[in-house]
Amino acid sequence: MVVVFLGPPGVGKGTQGAMLAEALDWDRLATGDLLREARRRGTELGRQAEEYMDAGELVPDSLIVAMVRERLEAMPARRGVLFDGFPRTLPQAEALDEVLPEVDRKVDAVVLLEAPDEVLHKRISGRRHSPESGRVYNIYFDPPEQEGICDEAGTPLVHREDDHPDTVTRRLEVYRELTEPLVDFYDASPAPVLRIDGNQEMDEVQASIRQALDEALDLGAKRE
Ligand code: AMP
Repeated sequence: MVVVFLGPPGVGKGTQGAMLAEALDWDRLATGDLLREARRRGTELGRQAEEYMDAGELVPDSLIVAMVRERLEAMPARRGVLFDGFPRTLPQAEALDEVLPEVDRKVDAVVLLEAPDEVLHKRISGRRHSPESGRVYNIYFDPPEQEGICDEAGTPLVHREDDHPDTVTRRLEVYRELTEPLVDFYDASPAPVLRIDGNQEMDEVQASIRQALDEALDLGAKRE
C-alpha cells in the first residue's frame, strides 16, 4: 500500500503522517526530514540542498528522486509506505509512477490536507522545536511553560531557518505554483484523492484521515 500526503507547508502533514504510520505500522518517507538529516550529517546531498531549503525554494528534482529511489529500494516490500512532502512537482510525480512498479507498488491513495493561508502562516511561523527532546511547540497554540525553553529538556528552543515569516510566504507561493497542480494530476489518476479539512484539532484530523482511508482502501484488517 502506498499513500501520498499532499498539502501546503504547515497544514500538519508531518504530524498526521507520523501518527498514521505509527498506528498502521507503516514506513514513512518524509523528504524534508531526510534532507535535514543529510544537512546535520554534512553529506554532499545536505550541502547541495542547504541553500534552496533556507530560501524556501525546492531542491532540484534530480537530487530528490535519487534520494527517494534509494530509500524505497531499501524498504521491506510488504509494509505500507506513506510519502510526506514528496512528490512536490509534476516531474517528481511522474518519476514516482516510474519507480514504484520497479518495486511492485503503485500509488493507492492521496490524502490532501487543506487549511486557510492565515492558519498556515501562524502554524509555521509559531513553530519552535527542541533539538534535544525532539518536541515541537507552537508559541501561539502550544507554548512551553517558560518562553523559549523546552519543558522536557530545559534547553533553548530553535526556530527553523525556513520557518521565518518571509520564507514562509515564499514556501506557500512555491506550493501554489509547483505542488498544487499535482491535485489535478492525481484527480486524473486511478488513485482516489481524499480531501481532508486540516483546520481541526489534531485528533479530529487524524480520525478524518483514518475514516477516509478506511472507506477508500479497506484498511480494517491492518488496524492495530
Ligand atoms: P518540509 O519539511 O517538507 O517542509 O521540507 C523542507 C524543505 O525541504 C522544503 O522547503 C524544500 O526546500 C525541501 N524539500 C523537501 N521535500 C522536497 C521535495 N520533494 N522536492 C523538493 N524540495 C523538497
